[in-house]
Amino acid sequence: MSHYYFIPHTKIDQILSYFKGNGYKCLAPRHLEGGISYAPISKAEDLPWGYVDEQKPGHYQITKTESPQAFGFTVPTASVKPMLFKAKETVWKVKRDDSGKLAFESVVDVEKIAVFGVRPCDLRGIEIQDRVFQHNSYNDIRYSKRRENQFIIAMNCGTSHFNCFCVALGDYPRADKGYDLALTEINAGFVAEIGSDKGRELLLYLEVDAATGAEVEHALNLIDNAAQMQHKQLPPIKEVEAKLMANLEHEAWDDVASRCLSCGSCTNSCPTCFCHTERDIPNVLGTETEHTREWDSCFSIDHSYTHGETYRENPKYRYRQWLTHKFSTWRDQFRTKGCVGCGRCVTWCPVKIDVVDEINTICK
Ligand code: SF4
Ligand code: SF4
Repeated sequence: MSHYYFIPHTKIDQILSYFKGNGYKCLAPRHLEGGISYAPISKAEDLPWGYVDEQKPGHYQITKTESPQAFGFTVPTASVKPMLFKAKETVWKVKRDDSGKLAFESVVDVEKIAVFGVRPCDLRGIEIQDRVFQHNSYNDIRYSKRRENQFIIAMNCGTSHFNCFCVALGDYPRADKGYDLALTEINAGFVAEIGSDKGRELLLYLEVDAATGAEVEHALNLIDNAAQMQHKQLPPIKEVEAKLMANLEHEAWDDVASRCLSCGSCTNSCPTCFCHTERDIPNVLGTETEHTREWDSCFSIDHSYTHGETYRENPKYRYRQWLTHKFSTWRDQFRTKGCVGCGRCVTWCPVKIDVVDEINTICK
């Protein structure tokens, strides 16, 4: 019996009812304010039917077409990261009573979230963040509880944008692990593969048939096509990792620093960046304090402020830190590469800096 199934588009509302009935809030890509971004959906109509996107260095545009597809675009503007590692959140509070005694309260804000349509690169981004927040010397309870309460429907790619480069990193635009169900959209529905017991239960609920050989072949051809659309090339990643560290004084660091605005747009849009800062926000009476955690960036001067000194004053050192961490020292720290090739840092860079071009210049 085939391990591929076919879910017609007409069953999307049933999937959403299943999530609702099981206490999940469902987030999926939606057409919002000129972009396609994850947001809550309650009906199939909420999906971005017919929309396609164009992404190039410093460029993002979406267009409505006559296409019958809901997932005809590539990657949404942001990844799944903000659902697991929030841009800003309170992690604990402390109150002092009249006797001076302190009462601490840990704040863990968790929802059951089903994400419908996670691209393979973003799935790999989650896997990398799992290593950072869970499988490291430290286990972040907020992140871990959100992961436990997450249902992931992956969406294999049928197209790639100009900035995509997962293939150059040795990956492929097909989900290989880390999902409950993986779908590939073909004409009137999805070819589905099961990734977990949760995914199997959903398929049983939907009462769908096995996919035909022609449907499976169509789906696999679309994924191959998406891979072939990618044109960016890099040396093998191990070579990149070694050459970057051997070229820390390459003149290209000065050149890129002369263009980089240190705006942090690349780190904000990246599915794997995890730098953050923590702050204490006391009330005026000094009887209560909230301790917050919020995203930071290696492009911010404050992020390298340690013990009275900022040690990455020059943008050259900030860019070099970002790139060498992502594409080299990340492996020493987390036993994996730090980039999944989604291309967002290139799309959202206001001065069109392309990380692949920079690596190729330095690694020549
Ligand atoms: S470094 Fe750029 S291409 Fe790589 S994962 Fe981050 S945003 Fe995507
Ligand atoms: S590389 Fe681009 S997006 Fe990143 S900090 Fe520099 S100017 Fe901003």
